[in-house]
Amino acid sequence: MKDLIGTLVSLQTLELGPSSDSPENQASITRLRQKVPAQILGHYDRLMQRGKKGVSVVRHGVCSECHMRLASGTHAQLMRLEDIIICDSCGRYLFPADEPAPDAAPPPPPPPPKPAAEKKRRRKKTADVA
Ligand SMILES: [Zn+2]
Repeated sequence: MKDLIGTLVSLQTLELGPSSDSPENQASITRLRQKVPAQILGHYDRLMQRGKKGVSVVRHGVCSECHMRLASGTHAQLMRLEDIIICDSCGRYLFPADEPAPDAAPPPPPPPPKPAAEKKRRRKKTADVA
């Protein structure tokens, strides 16, 4: 199951990335989509079409997108990676962050100072605060 949710995370990263329409990324996106069952991909796509992320990282038992704390049983289930878990609150697929080493995460890059550069990026989503 970790492979599957990992594939979704990779897919989302590519699709929300700055060069998602480049030929290389399009090829990667197509390849990743072929690995995901249609039912799961359908739910993911519905979220993405509503301008949401399809996958949310869980840190310390909290969904990073809607900031709701998971039920402890749900969190335990998530950490075991036995099944795909959906956030009760926002409906996103949940992906467990690597919690034992919080210091290992690099700081997020500073936001670009010039908003004019956003013009060609119509699909700009809320910045990932991670
Ligand atoms: Zn959520």
